[in-house]
Amino acid sequence: MKRIALFPGSFDPFTKGHEDIVLRGLKLFDEIIIAIGYNSQKQNRYFEIELMEEKIKETFITRPEVSVLVYSELTAQLAAKYNAGFILRGLRNTTDFEYENSISQVNRDLNDALETVFLITSPELAAVNSSIIREVHRYDGDVSKYLPYTI
Ligand code: ADP
Repeated sequence: MKRIALFPGSFDPFTKGHEDIVLRGLKLFDEIIIAIGYNSQKQNRYFEIELMEEKIKETFITRPEVSVLVYSELTAQLAAKYNAGFILRGLRNTTDFEYENSISQVNRDLNDALETVFLITSPELAAVNSSIIREVHRYDGDVSKYLPYTI
């Protein structure tokens, strides 16, 4: 059976930190589905979801084992729909840990076939943060070194 992982997130924007998690995840999984979700606590996106979908697809154009989709349902249900047995997430710090700890437990309550796998951030990418990138971009700063594509 294929090992399929879902990598869910807001990806507003998708960063080199996210790319690193996907590339390292490919050592563990046969397929990774990057799922751009509407986070109910982050209603208003800065980067259009369709633009981000296109940019992420462009980033992984040479990796057929990576696919990209947009979703607005429970992550645990989406995983079941795509036969994904795993959720992939990145961990940068204790704040990420506190949050991830509870969502992974709820996700497993909702779908007991689902395991969440965490990869610790690569140190050189630990400070790469979507919300800071949005601020820099808003005031015309150069964000290109944080992104794996041009925007
Ligand atoms: P969410 O809104 O679901 O937290 P994000 O797009 O902010 O979505 O992040 C998606 C996942 O990527 C999360 O697991 C987050 O911890 C992880 N992540 C974000 N930035 C980095 C980074 N620089 N290095 C490693 N993991 C990261």
